[in-house]
Amino acid sequence: MDEGLKGLILTAPFMTAPSRVFVPSVTEEDGGTIGLGVFSTEEIAWKVLRRFLRKSHLMLLTRSDLVVWDVDLVGEEGMTVLSSMHCRDCPVCKRRTFWMDLDSFSAMCTGQACEAWIEESTIDPGKIDLGWPPTRFLKQADNLEDALTDLNEIGTQLEAAGSTPNSSFTSIPEE
Ligand SMILES: [Zn+2]
Repeated sequence: MDEGLKGLILTAPFMTAPSRVFVPSVTEEDGGTIGLGVFSTEEIAWKVLRRFLRKSHLMLLTRSDLVVWDVDLVGEEGMTVLSSMHCRDCPVCKRRTFWMDLDSFSAMCTGQACEAWIEESTIDPGKIDLGWPPTRFLKQADNLEDALTDLNEIGTQLEAAGSTPNSSFTSIPEE
């Protein structure tokens, strides 16, 4: 970083602009990143990101990031990653709509009529809760791997029964 530029930023007149901004983005399978905007609160940034992810079955996405930037700080110092999620094929409905946050052991399918989920238990730390809302299926597993296996089993049963949650679903979800 050029020292002169650094000085210019540090002495810039103080304005009423937000001192931190929240920036959600998603990455496509071909590596391209789509910025979803710059927001003044974390709450709005999450809303924008979640709304976008609900349409993720229409695109091939690999990850999402929510980053907070401190304004007028140079380079990486100004950046904090609040959340990174990876998108996988859903073990139940098989669409590319299963968003996993590997730091918090949580995952959720954003596909319509599916919403399979995984979360670290708040009552039994270390255990993993999982569920599939359409049949009110709830279970606890010892680890993430077992939880995914359990969800896979639901997917296999659905396939065997000839019904997948997405079989009748081809249109864009309503907001
Ligand atoms: Zn699903």
